[in-house]
Amino acid sequence: MTTVIDGNAVAEDVRADVAATVDALDAEGVTPGLATVLMSDDDASSTYVSMKQRDCEEVGIESFHVEIDPDEPASELYETIDDLNAREDVHGILVQLPLPDHVDEREVLRRVDPAKDVDGFHPENVGRLVAGDPRFVPCTPNGVMRLLDDADVPLDGLDATVVGRSNIVGKPLSNLLLQENATVTTCHSRTTDLEAHTRSADLVVAAAGIPEFIDASMLAEGAVVIDVGTNRVEDSSEKGYHLTGDVDFESAKEKASVISPSPGGVGPMTRAMLLVNTVEAAAALTDSDVPLP
Ligand code: NDP
Repeated sequence: MTTVIDGNAVAEDVRADVAATVDALDAEGVTPGLATVLMSDDDASSTYVSMKQRDCEEVGIESFHVEIDPDEPASELYETIDDLNAREDVHGILVQLPLPDHVDEREVLRRVDPAKDVDGFHPENVGRLVAGDPRFVPCTPNGVMRLLDDADVPLDGLDATVVGRSNIVGKPLSNLLLQENATVTTCHSRTTDLEAHTRSADLVVAAAGIPEFIDASMLAEGAVVIDVGTNRVEDSSEKGYHLTGDVDFESAKEKASVISPSPGGVGPMTRAMLLVNTVEAAAALTDSDVPLP
């Protein structure tokens, strides 16, 4: 019997916990605030930012939004970040990526106050994660860990294969799994014999960005499968595309013991974990000891 993870349901629980923390902070006179910064004309980026603002509203987090014309000099963005760093009503800062070519992304990530870095991309927070002393964990890997916990997957001693080594998903997730005593193999585009690594794993996390490329033939019987992939595939529908994961869900679910679908698995968790990081930032910055989600 395969357990199909319901990411929407788990995310709903997380949001309820966040709302309770917001209420507790409110009782102390603190309203958590998240600032989003958009320097792009890209429709998808603008949609992501709107969704984040809506998510905040739903749980009582105040959201502030700054939009910068992508043709403006990089200094405009740097000054915006400096202003947000200094504001007491802003506890979390999220600069939507990608940025225009003339902006140095690394400088932007370094510029955000690490105590407000709710994306967890500042080098200080990356270092803390690797050192086993995490502050803000990037939202997608944090969401994956929460799904595994909710599904009661024991990680101690587990053989885990993570397919993908990006800074936002694969690398932080590999570190988090390692901290929970899994034995982790991190695969990437130069991995020789990927199938050997996925087939021998108790847990496979797919985060390569290739539609449905992991199927049942690449999995061990009874494996736990988490699909991070979110890929647009063009079709003849009115929208012109549909979203699909990196895993061929229909074949993989015949072999997996636990599987997260995409959409409907990791995606909603990524959004929920941003809210978690924001209330954690608000509590830390105001020296509050309210119960955290
Ligand atoms: P990146 O493109 O930054 O990284 C992809 C990784 O996959 C790279 O490490 C790359 O290797 C590796 N890879 C590429 N091809 C192969 C292959 N044939 N075999 C093994 N590894 C391969 O993507 P992201 O990490 O940003 O995202 C990955 C997927 O997750 C995407 O579909 C994205 O849309 C989705 N995503 C979903 C989120 C959510 O909230 N659900 C959030 C973030 C991402 P190399 O390093 O060698 O290039």
